[in-house]
Amino acid sequence: LRVQGTLLRDAHNKKIGAVVVLNDITQIRRLERVRKDFVANVSHELKTPVTSIKGFIETLLDGALDDPEDAARFIKIIERQTNRLNHIIQDLLTLSRIEEQTERTSIEVVPANIKGLLSTAAQLCQLRASEKNVEIKLDCENDLIAPVNPSLLEQALVNLIDNAIKYSPQDDTVTVNAHQDQNNIVFSVSDNGCGIKAKYLPRLFERFYRVDKARSRKLGGTGLGLAIVKHISQAHGGTVSVESTPDIGSTFTITIPTTN
Ligand code: ADP
Repeated sequence: LRVQGTLLRDAHNKKIGAVVVLNDITQIRRLERVRKDFVANVSHELKTPVTSIKGFIETLLDGALDDPEDAARFIKIIERQTNRLNHIIQDLLTLSRIEEQTERTSIEVVPANIKGLLSTAAQLCQLRASEKNVEIKLDCENDLIAPVNPSLLEQALVNLIDNAIKYSPQDDTVTVNAHQDQNNIVFSVSDNGCGIKAKYLPRLFERFYRVDKARSRKLGGTGLGLAIVKHISQAHGGTVSVESTPDIGSTFTITIPTTN
């Protein structure tokens, strides 16, 4: 709590009262903490691939270039780490773009065909799905129309579908459903994958939070995907939630109001 006081005086400089301002700065402190943590996390996330790239370039310059096999292997690693850097930066830019949009004005929404939106999102994930022979099933009425920002919502769905595929076993099915429920449009993405223990669920939508960092990195994750989904849901005045059972699977649900 911050306390500030000022004496009030009349024209003859006589004390006639005082004003005391009590400021609750817990919220300000909390935001400062979040910002500092964020900067520390970003730096750490960027530093890991940069350190690796630097190390392999030095090894190449120190003589590994002379062995074509070693050289090819190290250059492949450098390429992978560069792609990773690119991926993190792209996700960070997406987050800041959405934040900026929602701080200044409300996002632009248009009546969109929801089935079409699901199809586009599924197509964008098709490459990864084919690699694991995962089938993406769409479950939505053909003529469902709702006011959304198509490109943002597509991005949120891509992130959820992509995760569902990533954390599913080979030859499995991911189901994407959308339906109207009273005054809401409800999107859900379900998988029969590894699931998430209850104790990890509360922090899942935080930036850079990952249940298993090593595994997420190996699968090409940045830990920003679900933070982006949360932002996009909130920008629509909606929410995102998760239900998950270890070894059974997970369902992520975005609920967006269709009336104001
Ligand atoms: P990442 O880039 O690591 O996938 P996300 O923000 O998209 O980051 O997800 C955060 C973490 O939530 C993941 O690292 C993973 O541990 C967990 N997670 C997300 N989606 C699923 C899912 N469908 N099944 C199991 N775990 C998941």
